[in-house]
Amino acid sequence: MMRFPDYIRKHAFHTPEKRATHFEGRSFTWAEFSTRIHKMGKAMIDLGVIPGDRVATLGNNSHWLVEMYYVPCAIGALSVPLNYRLSEQEMVDVIADCTPNVLVVDRHHAARAAILQARCPSIRHLIYADWDTPTVEMPEGTQFYEQLIAESDPVADEAFDDIATGGDETMIIFYTSGTTGVPKGVMLSHTNLTMNATGSGHLYGYRTDDILLLSGPLFHLGTGSRVYTAVAYGTTMVVQSRFEVEETMRMIEAQRITTMTLVPTMLSMIMNHPDFDKFDFSSIRVLTYGAAPMPLPLMERAIAAIPGVTFCQGYGMTETSPVLSVLIPADHVPGNPMISKLSSVGKPILYCDLRIMDESERPLPPGQPGEIMVRGPQVMNGYWNRPEDTRQALRGGFYHTGDAGYLDEDGYLFLSGRTKEMIISGGENVYPIETENCLCKHPAVAQAAVLGMPHEKWGEAVHAVVAFHSGKSATPEELITHCREWIAHYKAPRGITIWDGPLPLSPTNKIDKTKLKTEILKGCE
Ligand code: ATP
Ligand code: MG
Repeated sequence: MMRFPDYIRKHAFHTPEKRATHFEGRSFTWAEFSTRIHKMGKAMIDLGVIPGDRVATLGNNSHWLVEMYYVPCAIGALSVPLNYRLSEQEMVDVIADCTPNVLVVDRHHAARAAILQARCPSIRHLIYADWDTPTVEMPEGTQFYEQLIAESDPVADEAFDDIATGGDETMIIFYTSGTTGVPKGVMLSHTNLTMNATGSGHLYGYRTDDILLLSGPLFHLGTGSRVYTAVAYGTTMVVQSRFEVEETMRMIEAQRITTMTLVPTMLSMIMNHPDFDKFDFSSIRVLTYGAAPMPLPLMERAIAAIPGVTFCQGYGMTETSPVLSVLIPADHVPGNPMISKLSSVGKPILYCDLRIMDESERPLPPGQPGEIMVRGPQVMNGYWNRPEDTRQALRGGFYHTGDAGYLDEDGYLFLSGRTKEMIISGGENVYPIETENCLCKHPAVAQAAVLGMPHEKWGEAVHAVVAFHSGKSATPEELITHCREWIAHYKAPRGITIWDGPLPLSPTNKIDKTKLKTEILKGCE
């Protein structure tokens, strides 16, 4: 049976002195990482946590947040990393949904945690996780993470074997980004996450001697999946509290980082930083990217600007642990004929049975777009507390991704967009990504987001919001003319909003189209 605590013990046995985590100047070896997890597990049992309970975390990235992915499953409970960028009410809703009885928190979110404990009756214990003493007054009875570990008796490796989860049992609940609705709690098992780690890791070319930088938020599986891969492979994880472009570049240089994952916005911030050329990125071997559509011009620029680095793309979603397909490093190499597939998201990974289906759920031939559906061991156990949504999403034995795309003759998957974001304008289907890519080809455009706006005549009209590179600009008419040169007229925007500064981002750094739409509609009133 696949069990994550076993992988950790394996590294503690074979490479006890090797660094497992490094955070703000302190490192923990694999032996220490394993001991801390088991001791914390014992402390949680003493606090009254029993198998099946949920243990939530609310923190910036840190060594303890990585540990807390594994403490609950080691004692049969479920881990729930909370998204710190949610509003107070949204957090209360998520907590009411998964009813954790323990909340572990750091200094950045201590004040919020005290309020949450007062508002959410399920939370019986608050644990403060940082080394320093809290600067805000913590509620009476607050426990301290480091103290709990220090005072917990050493635990034999096998101590919790009879209660630890494994195999198909849920070990963690990740909430989705909420891009298309309310965030849903996705239940993932040891098997799900192992199949993802091994199914994608070899394609990315991961190595046990890698030094991985975790900069993206650990409450999101995009970053989380790197933790599972690192724990499967036994690589070293360098943790950054939060992505800050300059600090990230400094850490890459100072820590001799060999691999990390970037979402397109992070890559664009790095590439456009005035000091980009001043940093030494020579330690980097593989940069993986995904989570949102990568503008082709940005990828082409990155390939030219960071030579010696292999790029690799992953596509997937929380519900599929997350990777479904990978565009391998070789497909990013200029001169390789497969570079023509650069705008695809690669081929399905091992064990992932991926189909393109029409509205009646019949498989479509190559070249024809439809909804992407998958089955395989990476597909979630279901949505926490949402049997009806689970049934809908998994009907017919396939997970319905809500993304649209097509497979080409060579088996490469091309995304057209989200089925929910598809714009129907005058009876024609328009997927925003095509128009966005076209706008990004314009030299003045730094970012573009395309939305469907209600329109009396066309039903919906293609509307674009663009942000310019600093010091550059173009008129809406110029941009529309530019688009019409490259794509069908009905796909070109009818209206353009020029956005001052970078486009707003969702908690997982995807462009927040819901917010853009609300702002634009407000402007039209
Ligand atoms: P919600 O499900 O709550 O609406 P979400 O779908 O954004 O939010 P995630 O699970 O974080 O939540 O994101 C998965 C989605 O991200 C995919 O369905 C897909 O639309 C998009 N995505 C992921 N990887 C890529 C990629 N490489 N290229 C383009 N889009 C991607
Ligand atoms: Mg989704």
